[in-house]
Amino acid sequence: MIAICRHCSQSKVNRPRGLCWGCYYTPGVKELYPSTSKYARRGVGNFNGVAPLPPEPTTAPPGSPEKEAVLAERARLKQALWHPLDAQYEGDPQPLAELLKARSALAS
Ligand SMILES: [Zn+2]
Repeated sequence: MIAICRHCSQSKVNRPRGLCWGCYYTPGVKELYPSTSKYARRGVGNFNGVAPLPPEPTTAPPGSPEKEAVLAERARLKQALWHPLDAQYEGDPQPLAELLKARSALAS
């Protein structure tokens, strides 16, 4: 089976990302096609070191889709994934108390 370039659909694939030589080296073209390699970096990346604490704890209980979204957003912003006052269980009042404290500090 001969793979055909994903961009021009004419030439034989002989460069990464399923592209032909001409398309791969044409400025702007390879950026249109994500890497097909299983070794490629994906997602928001990883890093070591001390990340700043997120500005606010979350009321989303552990394991919930809401908490997952919060973690993804924190990772994207390169913040620490865990806030010490994050809800530990469904209905945990701890983060709420902290949020109210922060809000009233802003208001005064
Ligand atoms: Zn091509």
